[in-house]
Amino acid sequence: MEKKYYVIGNWKMNPGNLNEAKSTAKTLQRITPNSKYVETVICPPSVFLYTLQKEIKGKTKYGHQGIHHEPKGAFTTKISASMAASAGAKFGIIGHSEERREGVTDEMVSGSLKNCLKEGMTPVLCVGENERDQNGFYFNIIRQQIETALSNIPKTRYTDIIIAYEPVWAIGKDAKRPASANEFLEIKIYIQKVITDLSNRKTADEVSIIYGGSADDTNILPFLEAGAMGFLPGRASLEPEVFSKMVLEVIDFAKNEGSK
Ligand code: PEP
Repeated sequence: MEKKYYVIGNWKMNPGNLNEAKSTAKTLQRITPNSKYVETVICPPSVFLYTLQKEIKGKTKYGHQGIHHEPKGAFTTKISASMAASAGAKFGIIGHSEERREGVTDEMVSGSLKNCLKEGMTPVLCVGENERDQNGFYFNIIRQQIETALSNIPKTRYTDIIIAYEPVWAIGKDAKRPASANEFLEIKIYIQKVITDLSNRKTADEVSIIYGGSADDTNILPFLEAGAMGFLPGRASLEPEVFSKMVLEVIDFAKNEGSK
């Protein structure tokens, strides 16, 4: 089976109101190229999700930012997997560093992942170290994040999960720089090793590993060449022209790969 590429936009807490969200989504749906090789997704704030997926339709699917680790109950402000799915989310961003920063633990990420799969959404599991130390401790962090997240998931479901490598130091407007393609490649190989240790090589090869961290239309080609199966852009996903150029670049790359 041919593997798909993904470009998944994380709008975070943007834009500021529903009208702006509709207008951004409309442009994005209109100008984003579509292809059998690439799945495009946008993850707006949950309060906009239902309206956008109902009114602003197109080839780009919708996803949800964050899924709670419990299926329901007394968790003020939180959104469960079944709520997100019933509001139209096909994907769920799980374990984003901005959630982990607020106290979400690897164990919670594991519950969210399980709930997301149970409700039929594709989880986008975010992993990444806060910093790169000289002794390679960051490898342990990645291993711990993945091992705990997958601890309650049947091995047969691993290939239904997208893993986004998002080094925290490369995310957001204060990031020093995006990761390099070599830094991505190193972690991609390591993630495959961790999954091989948990299951087998074939499964590890089939899991889609994407990159996030200041990715935009000017810098993604080396990541594709290093084996990234797509991207999880934040800021770039709020600019439909930039997002659609990224998608176009991924389509071109995928077509070339497909014809080799
Ligand atoms: C993110 O927060 O997931 C992200 C990658 O953001 P940005 O692209 O803006 O660095």
